[in-house]
Amino acid sequence: MLPPVRLRMSPMPPPDGPSFHMSPDDFRRWGHALVDWIADYQARVEDFPVQSRVRPGDIRAALPPAAPAHGEPFDAILADVERIILPGVTHWQSPRFFAFFPANASGPSILGELLSAGLGVQGMLWVTSPACTELETHVLDWLVDMLGLPARFRSDGPGGGVIQDTASSATLCALLAARERSTGFRAGAEGCDGRLVAYTSTQAHSSVEKAMRVAGMGAHNLRLVEVDDDLRMRPDRLAERIAADRAAGRVPCFVCATVGTTSSGAVDPVPAIGRICRAEDVWLHVDAAMAGTAAVCPEHRWLHAGLENADSYCFNPHKWMFTNFDCDCFYVADRAALVGALSVLPEYLRNQATESGAVIDYRDWHIPLGRRFRALKLWFVIRHYGVEGLRHHIRRHVALAETFAGWVAADPRFELAAPRALNLVCFRARGGDAVNAELLARLNAGGRLYLSHARIRDRHALRLCVGQTHTEARHVAAAWAEIQAALDAGPEPPASADTMPSEGASR
Ligand SMILES: *Cc1c(COP(=O)(O)O)cnc(C)c1O
Repeated sequence: MLPPVRLRMSPMPPPDGPSFHMSPDDFRRWGHALVDWIADYQARVEDFPVQSRVRPGDIRAALPPAAPAHGEPFDAILADVERIILPGVTHWQSPRFFAFFPANASGPSILGELLSAGLGVQGMLWVTSPACTELETHVLDWLVDMLGLPARFRSDGPGGGVIQDTASSATLCALLAARERSTGFRAGAEGCDGRLVAYTSTQAHSSVEKAMRVAGMGAHNLRLVEVDDDLRMRPDRLAERIAADRAAGRVPCFVCATVGTTSSGAVDPVPAIGRICRAEDVWLHVDAAMAGTAAVCPEHRWLHAGLENADSYCFNPHKWMFTNFDCDCFYVADRAALVGALSVLPEYLRNQATESGAVIDYRDWHIPLGRRFRALKLWFVIRHYGVEGLRHHIRRHVALAETFAGWVAADPRFELAAPRALNLVCFRARGGDAVNAELLARLNAGGRLYLSHARIRDRHALRLCVGQTHTEARHVAAAWAEIQAALDAGPEPPASADTMPSEGASR
C-alpha cells in the first residue's frame, strides 16, 4: 500500500458529477452472468449449425443505424448477443468443426484472457509491467523444453522467444531480421535495392508472400521451390535456385520451410534445407503453425529435426494448444538481428531498466509498440493441463484422424488425396472436382459439420482436421456417416472415375 499523501491547499476542480461507469458491484454481477453465459454456450455449442447461415448484411440490418445516445442496461446488451450476434457466429468451438485449422480454446485460456483484460496491462517495455515480460520469457523457455526445440532458442543465451499475434507476423519479423542481417542493417534505413531474394515451397502459406510485399522486397523476389510427390520442398531445387540467383548477381537472404503445410500437412526436409542455408549463409525460418504443438509428444519430435540450423521458428498455441486466438510463439537463435531490425528508441521511452541492459523490452521484438499480457493464458493452459494433459489430448486427436483416414481408405467411393498428416486428413470422392465441390457445399450447408477444401496436386480435395478441444470419437464417426450419406444423396458421379494422379506433384 502506498503511504498517504498530504494535500497542500490549492484550488480544487469542481466536484465529480454523476458517473456513467459500471460500478464494481455491477461488474461482479454481470461478470458472473457472462461467465455463466459462456459456460452454457460451451454446453450447447454442438447443437448449432457449425457454419453461420446468415447472408451478407443480415447482422448489420439487425443493428440500429446510430450509436445509442444514452447508455443501456447490460442485460439488454447480453440479450442482443443472443438475438443478433449468435446467429452470425461460425462455431469454431463446436466439436463438429473440422475446417481449416482449429482455433481451439479451453477454460483456463479463456480465464487467462479475462485476467489479461482485467489487469489491462500494456507491456511494451519491461518497466511498463515487469511480470508481463518475465512470465512470457519464462513460459517460452518452458516450451523450448516441452517441444524439444534446440537450446539456442532459450532466452539464457543469445536467442529467445516472444509471443506474436500470429504466424504471419512472426514470418514478417523473421524476414525483416534476415533482410537487415544480409544488408549490414542498412535496408531498413536506406530501402531495399531489389537484389534480395527469398525462397519457400509452392505449398507454403500465403503469409510468406505477404511478408515479402510488406517488407518492401517484392513478391516477385520470392521463389516458389518445387515439391516432391509428398508435397515437401525439394532441397536440390532450392540449392539450384540459390546458385542461379547468385550467378545473376542477386542476394539470397531468406528461406521459409514449413512443418505442416496448410493444404496437406506436408513437412519440409528441414535438416537438408538447414545445411544448405548454413552453407549459403541464408536465414532459415521454420513455420510450424499448427503441427508444432504435436512435438509435445515425444513420438512426434521428429517434426523438429534439423531446427539446430534454423535462425527462427514459430508455432501457434492458438491453433492446437487449447489457447484461444491470438497467440503465436516465435523464437530466434540470435535476438540481436531481430532487435537490430526493429528497435527505434525515442526519448519518451527511455528508462533506467532499458539502459541497464538487464531486461528484455519486447517492443523491439515485433511490429507494434504496445502488447497485451498474452503469456497469462498460455501459462494458465500449461499449468492446468500439465505436459501430460496436453499429450493426452494431442494423441487423441491424432488417433481420431488416423481412424478417419482408415475409413476413407477402406471405402472404394473415396480416396486419400495426400497421406494423413498428424490430425489432418485430405480426401476426396472419386469422380472429379465438380463432385467434390458439390459434396462439400452440401455437407457444410447441412450444418452438422464444417469441412474446408484445398487444391492438392491439381485436384479438389476435402480437408478434415481434428483439433477442436471437445471433439470426441462420436463426432468424427458422425462426420464420416454424414459424408457417406451426402455422397449417396448427391448427383450420380460421371462414369469415368477421376482419381488422384499417383505422382507428379505440383501446386
Ligand atoms: C495457419 C497458418 C499460418 C497463418 O497463421 P496466422 O497465425 O493466422 O497468421 C501460417 N503458416 C501456416 C503453415 C499455417 O498453417
